[in-house]
Amino acid sequence: MTYKITSECISCNLCQSACPTGAIKIVDNSLWIDPDLCTNCVGSLYSVPQCKAGCPTCDGCIKQSTDYWESWFDTYNRLVAKLTKKQDYWENWFNFYSQKFSEQLQEHQCRVLGVEP
Ligand code: SF4
Ligand code: SF4
Repeated sequence: MTYKITSECISCNLCQSACPTGAIKIVDNSLWIDPDLCTNCVGSLYSVPQCKAGCPTCDGCIKQSTDYWESWFDTYNRLVAKLTKKQDYWENWFNFYSQKFSEQLQEHQCRVLGVEP
Protein backbone atom coordinates (compact mmCIF):
# COMPACT_ATOMS: atom_id res chain seq x y z
CA MET A 1 0.00 0.00 0.00
CA THR A 2 1.17 3.51 -0.80
CA TYR A 3 1.17 6.64 1.29
CA LYS A 4 -1.60 9.24 1.32
CA ILE A 5 -2.09 12.84 2.41
CA THR A 6 -4.56 13.33 5.24
CA SER A 7 -6.71 16.20 6.53
CA GLU A 8 -3.89 16.96 9.02
CA CYS A 9 -1.82 18.37 6.16
CA ILE A 10 -1.05 22.08 6.52
CA SER A 11 0.21 22.39 2.92
CA CYS A 12 3.79 23.25 3.82
CA ASN A 13 4.83 21.36 0.64
CA LEU A 14 7.96 19.89 2.26
CA CYS A 15 6.99 16.39 1.26
CA GLN A 16 6.55 17.35 -2.37
CA SER A 17 10.19 18.30 -2.78
CA ALA A 18 11.36 15.41 -0.59
CA CYS A 19 9.62 12.67 -2.56
CA PRO A 20 12.22 10.82 -4.67
CA THR A 21 9.71 9.63 -7.25
CA GLY A 22 7.71 12.82 -7.84
CA ALA A 23 4.58 11.04 -6.62
CA ILE A 24 3.25 14.02 -4.66
CA LYS A 25 1.24 16.35 -6.83
CA ILE A 26 -1.09 19.28 -6.41
CA VAL A 27 -4.59 18.42 -7.57
CA ASP A 28 -7.36 21.01 -7.13
CA ASN A 29 -5.15 23.03 -4.77
CA SER A 30 -4.54 20.03 -2.49
CA LEU A 31 -1.62 17.68 -2.26
CA TRP A 32 -2.25 14.18 -3.51
CA ILE A 33 -0.02 11.11 -3.73
CA ASP A 34 -0.19 9.31 -7.04
CA PRO A 35 -0.41 5.61 -6.09
CA ASP A 36 1.13 4.63 -9.41
CA LEU A 37 4.31 6.57 -8.60
CA CYS A 38 4.63 6.07 -4.85
CA THR A 39 7.06 3.26 -4.11
CA ASN A 40 6.98 3.72 -0.32
CA CYS A 41 10.55 4.92 -0.94
CA VAL A 42 11.60 1.28 -1.32
CA GLY A 43 14.57 1.00 -3.67
CA SER A 44 15.54 4.66 -3.16
CA LEU A 45 18.47 6.14 -1.25
CA TYR A 46 16.27 6.45 1.81
CA SER A 47 15.46 3.88 4.43
CA VAL A 48 12.22 5.55 5.55
CA PRO A 49 9.39 7.16 3.57
CA GLN A 50 10.50 10.73 3.04
CA CYS A 51 7.03 12.27 3.06
CA LYS A 52 6.26 10.92 6.51
CA ALA A 53 9.75 11.49 7.87
CA GLY A 54 9.76 15.20 7.08
CA CYS A 55 6.14 16.07 7.79
CA PRO A 56 5.88 18.68 10.56
CA THR A 57 2.41 17.50 11.55
CA CYS A 58 3.49 13.82 11.85
CA ASP A 59 0.11 12.65 10.49
CA GLY A 60 0.00 14.66 7.27
CA CYS A 61 1.29 11.66 5.30
CA ILE A 62 0.32 8.21 6.43
CA LYS A 63 0.39 4.75 4.98
CA GLN A 64 -2.89 3.85 3.31
CA SER A 65 -5.02 1.32 5.07
CA THR A 66 -5.13 -2.17 3.65
CA ASP A 67 -8.80 -2.26 4.60
CA TYR A 68 -10.82 -2.35 1.37
CA TRP A 69 -13.72 -0.18 2.54
CA GLU A 70 -11.50 2.39 4.22
CA SER A 71 -9.62 2.83 0.95
CA TRP A 72 -12.91 2.90 -0.96
CA PHE A 73 -14.27 5.70 1.24
CA ASP A 74 -10.99 7.64 0.94
CA THR A 75 -11.33 7.59 -2.84
CA TYR A 76 -15.03 8.43 -2.64
CA ASN A 77 -14.43 11.40 -0.33
CA ARG A 78 -11.64 12.69 -2.55
CA LEU A 79 -13.84 12.53 -5.65
CA VAL A 80 -16.82 14.14 -3.92
CA ALA A 81 -14.57 16.90 -2.57
CA LYS A 82 -13.33 17.43 -6.13
CA LEU A 83 -16.89 17.78 -7.42
CA THR A 84 -18.17 19.99 -4.65
CA LYS A 85 -15.20 22.34 -4.94
CA LYS A 86 -16.27 23.21 -8.46
CA GLN A 87 -17.87 26.60 -8.44
CA ASP A 88 -21.67 26.56 -8.81
CA TYR A 89 -21.71 22.75 -9.04
CA TRP A 90 -24.75 22.27 -6.78
CA GLU A 91 -26.55 25.31 -8.19
CA ASN A 92 -26.13 23.98 -11.74
CA TRP A 93 -27.15 20.52 -10.60
CA PHE A 94 -30.29 21.89 -8.93
CA ASN A 95 -31.22 24.05 -11.96
CA PHE A 96 -30.82 21.09 -14.30
CA TYR A 97 -32.80 18.81 -12.02
CA SER A 98 -35.63 21.37 -11.56
CA GLN A 99 -35.87 21.96 -15.30
CA LYS A 100 -36.09 18.22 -16.08
CA PHE A 101 -38.61 17.72 -13.30
CA SER A 102 -40.85 20.56 -14.49
CA GLU A 103 -40.70 19.27 -18.10
CA GLN A 104 -41.76 15.81 -16.98
CA LEU A 105 -44.51 17.24 -14.79
CA GLN A 106 -45.84 19.31 -17.67
CA GLU A 107 -45.84 16.28 -20.01
CA HIS A 108 -47.66 14.25 -17.37
CA GLN A 109 -50.32 16.96 -16.88
CA CYS A 110 -50.86 17.20 -20.67
CA ARG A 111 -51.29 13.42 -20.90
CA VAL A 112 -53.80 13.44 -18.03
CA LEU A 113 -55.75 16.33 -19.60
CA GLY A 114 -55.42 14.89 -23.12
CA VAL A 115 -53.97 18.08 -24.59
CA GLU A 116 -50.83 18.79 -26.66
CA PRO A 117 -47.78 19.79 -24.63
S1 SF4 B 1 4.96 17.60 4.72
FE1 SF4 B 1 3.04 17.09 5.77
S2 SF4 B 1 2.06 19.07 6.21
FE2 SF4 B 1 3.68 19.43 4.68
S3 SF4 B 1 2.58 19.30 2.73
FE3 SF4 B 1 3.39 17.26 3.13
S4 SF4 B 1 1.71 16.19 4.22
FE4 SF4 B 1 1.26 18.36 4.27
S1 SF4 C 1 6.46 7.13 0.47
FE1 SF4 C 1 8.23 7.92 -0.69
S2 SF4 C 1 7.64 7.60 -2.84
FE2 SF4 C 1 5.77 7.50 -1.65
S3 SF4 C 1 4.96 9.56 -1.64
FE3 SF4 C 1 6.18 9.34 0.22
S4 SF4 C 1 8.17 10.15 -0.36
FE4 SF4 C 1 7.10 9.72 -2.28
